[in-house]
Amino acid sequence: MSGWLASIDGWLRTHERQLIELRRQIHAHPELGIDVPHTTDLIERRLLEAGLSPQRFRGGNGLAVDIGQGPRIVGLRADIDALPLQELTNLPFASRIDGRSHACGHDMHAAFAMGAALALAQAPELPGRVRVIFQPAEETLGGAHMVIANGILDGLERVFALHCEPQVKVGQAGTRLGAITAACDLVEIHLSGPGGHTARPHLSVDLVDALARIVTTVPGLTSRSVDPRDGLSVVFGAIEAGSAPNAIPSEGVLRGTVRTLTRAGWTAAEDAVRRLVDEVAALTRASVKIDYRRGVPPVDNDVTSFSLLRTAMAGVVGDDSVYMPEQSMGGEDFGWYADYAPVGMGRIGVYPGSGPMSDLHQGTFVADERAILIGARVLAHTAIGSLTSPTSLPTG
Ligand SMILES: [Zn+2]
Ligand SMILES: [Zn+2]
Repeated sequence: MSGWLASIDGWLRTHERQLIELRRQIHAHPELGIDVPHTTDLIERRLLEAGLSPQRFRGGNGLAVDIGQGPRIVGLRADIDALPLQELTNLPFASRIDGRSHACGHDMHAAFAMGAALALAQAPELPGRVRVIFQPAEETLGGAHMVIANGILDGLERVFALHCEPQVKVGQAGTRLGAITAACDLVEIHLSGPGGHTARPHLSVDLVDALARIVTTVPGLTSRSVDPRDGLSVVFGAIEAGSAPNAIPSEGVLRGTVRTLTRAGWTAAEDAVRRLVDEVAALTRASVKIDYRRGVPPVDNDVTSFSLLRTAMAGVVGDDSVYMPEQSMGGEDFGWYADYAPVGMGRIGVYPGSGPMSDLHQGTFVADERAILIGARVLAHTAIGSLTSPTSLPTG
């Protein structure tokens, strides 16, 4: 294994400039959502120059490339889309498009994955296949489905991804066992009844009372319908009904979010909310219609993927510089990949160590480019570690 790692590290050290250059080109021309043709062109061109055979996804946005051969395939995934957000840095390679920027660091992720792909491609014959995936539309959450629809995850033994962490100094990397991001669903509850005079609630359906009962009862009941460690939380942000003090309205609506920390909690959430809203509404005789919109499942790192990723990180940044990230309450569409293969996601520190600390999705976000080599090495080392580990594929 050390031969592969030395070859990967040697190549990356001498080609760091090229990777920074690619990152800056992507950074200066941010593209949104599924529509990333220019970014895809840049990545494709570089892979073709290296003699590789990238395959663009149907529609031409995003691509995947296989390196090495054999039945064992390990995936590495980078997201490549930007945000509809004005860049507020004065970087010489700042976004040239008004109102768009790479404020989530996906340009860095593309450079990590490109570094890993090219370094693996020139290494001695690999112990299996590495599929490097450049995915559009993470921010808009459609990209994972596109990757799945293109069959890119078929046959993968496991798949890994990294995300920039602007609150952690460059030179550090981290991952955690279990969920590293959270799930957030949206729920809209419409109640209706005949309406009427507040003097005669017994002849109508007291809709304001019914809405209030749902608001005060359903969150508590829902949290008791799953394991408390799933951290399932229903919070309403909007309630609308009525206008006159003495008239019972005939329509009312509640809007809220359903957040959960685990995959099991997310799987159970929709049914639990629907059932409990129906049951509480039935007590009030209000008619109910529930519009429940699924977000993304949490990215749930499985034990082997976690350990492979952590081992690679320790080899790259040193054991003392591997930290334990907190679970983010944000969503990440890499969570869908876990339906097809065990996943491992980690974070790479990109804070330069001086100057104000910015957050992801802020126009002032700046990533230290020294993290590119770290991200590329972690991905490539993880792939080698995974392909040389005992197989978890069913045999025979
Ligand atoms: Zn983002
Ligand atoms: Zn992101």
